[in-house]
Amino acid sequence: MSHIQIAIDGPSGAGKSSLSKAVAKAMGIIYVDTGALYRTVGYFARSKGITLDNISALVPHLGELNIEVRYENEVQCVYLNGENLGDRIRENEISMYASKVSAIPEVRAFLLDTQKDIARKNSVIMDGRDIGTVILPDADVKIFLTASNEVRARRRVKELEEKGMPASYEEVLSDMIKRDEQDRSRDIAPAIAAPDAIHFDNSYEGFDEALEALLTVIRNA
Ligand code: C5P
Repeated sequence: MSHIQIAIDGPSGAGKSSLSKAVAKAMGIIYVDTGALYRTVGYFARSKGITLDNISALVPHLGELNIEVRYENEVQCVYLNGENLGDRIRENEISMYASKVSAIPEVRAFLLDTQKDIARKNSVIMDGRDIGTVILPDADVKIFLTASNEVRARRRVKELEEKGMPASYEEVLSDMIKRDEQDRSRDIAPAIAAPDAIHFDNSYEGFDEALEALLTVIRNA
């Protein structure tokens, strides 16, 4: 297949990004992390002094926002008004900001073309919450990735620790449950599986085992 689109949706910590990165490498395609775009908007909102309980105050500022996605050594870099934010968008507080801004219709509309454009120009595996339902409804393969809350929270804690931003298991677990509920129940682009998505439970302990299983699912789809 010359041009391929793979959509991966599912809640935080299900292993979307690490598995998608590995699948991209194995298949020679690009990995697109769409959560990074919402995180960047969330970061911008916080930098404007907007609070989580008044998040719609962001809307009039969207015109000041320029987001650009570049691939540098096959790594996705998101630029906010010319600045690469790197791991600053991974902070735990920014996760909640990202979830809040992502429920604003104007924000979703603002990021729509950027995402569609990348998938039009490249073969991709794109992960997020609405990829199979909204962004790439005609994707060649759609996967809905899940894992238990405990497994997901443990993964998140490890990831934050590795990035030098430690957070407690309890805090991560409760924030994650709150954020997932917010993402699932919003009016616009709720984080649910596309009707034709393949459900894949990633409660595997071993990463290689999970990757092999996922590659098999994709190749057989
Ligand atoms: O995937 P990640 O945890 O980085 O995403 C951060 C937040 O961005 C999610 O909680 C979700 O609210 C939002 N998001 C979204 N749609 C996407 C990707 C992420 O609403 N396609």
